[in-house]
Amino acid sequence: MRALITGGAGFVGSHLAEALLERGDEVFVLDNLSTGAIDNIEHLKSDRRFHYAIDSVMNEPVAAELIDRADVVFHLAAAVGVRLIVESPVNTIETNVHGTEMVLKLANKKKKKVLVASTSEVYGKSNQVPFREDADLVLGPTMKGRWSYACSKAIDEFLALAYHKEKRLPVVVFRLFNTVGPRQTGRYGMVIPNFVKQAVLGHPLTVFGDGSQSRCFTYVSDVVDVLLKLADHPSAVGQVFNIGNDHEEVTILDLAKRVKARTGSKSEVVMVPYDQAYEEGFEDMQRRVPDLSRIRALTGYEPRVHLDEILDNVAAYFTSDKARV
Ligand code: UDP
Repeated sequence: MRALITGGAGFVGSHLAEALLERGDEVFVLDNLSTGAIDNIEHLKSDRRFHYAIDSVMNEPVAAELIDRADVVFHLAAAVGVRLIVESPVNTIETNVHGTEMVLKLANKKKKKVLVASTSEVYGKSNQVPFREDADLVLGPTMKGRWSYACSKAIDEFLALAYHKEKRLPVVVFRLFNTVGPRQTGRYGMVIPNFVKQAVLGHPLTVFGDGSQSRCFTYVSDVVDVLLKLADHPSAVGQVFNIGNDHEEVTILDLAKRVKARTGSKSEVVMVPYDQAYEEGFEDMQRRVPDLSRIRALTGYEPRVHLDEILDNVAAYFTSDKARV
């Protein structure tokens, strides 16, 4: 199979590229290196089944050529990370909406299968935990920048499902829940790389708000394994899937303590008000837990990597010379 990964030099994309090559597929990566890095794919360049183009998905001739060559497209190129979204809202909305629009339009010409990355952020402030794919999305007001990310991804989902319904384009939408692992940088605000980096450097661990908000963290290899299954499964087409880990829900304050304990760090844990961490009036999601019934039923998915192992692997990465800190 020939797979195109948009955003393939990013954190999840580069792990996916590796897994596809390992099973014998040919891989094309399209990435503009906005948040991705050439270092993430450096080790793949010597494989003759690996090809990459440093360009934007919005460069139509380049995207068209690569989509034409592929049997399946994993569309991961997007603006991600709450900090990035709060700081560059125009770029977030434009990249997420126009990028997906372009990929779907081009894929539709020869009906290429597209797997569209979305996010658990779309559930917004919903308190119907665990979140089921068919649950209502509860977003905050347009004056609060954070929600533009969820909204831009919801538009991506609507558009993908519309292409499926109206034009019979084979699409699969997946919502990622706090994916973590090596190569994820703390630069865009993600909590585990931030805490681990702070712990390793002996800096204070910055817990935003009162730390009572909770998350479930998924290791990147679990995500990649099930993405391959979704790509191969004919019945996944036209559906939306949560991908996460429901084995452990942890508050951010407890997470900070866990990171300290597992890294043997003497760093202190400090609380930073949301207004200071992000922007005035920032609204967080209090709990975020996936309902995984749908993906379990279709693929037999079961997350394998537990939080302590995730933390150990991320800590090993941050103490190696490969880390992008
Ligand atoms: N967070 C934190 N300290 C940090 C970075 C993030 O307390 O240095 C909090 C953040 O406010 C959120 C949670 O950790 O409540 C997860 O944040 P992340 O950006 O990783 O993902 P999100 O779940 O917000 O998409």
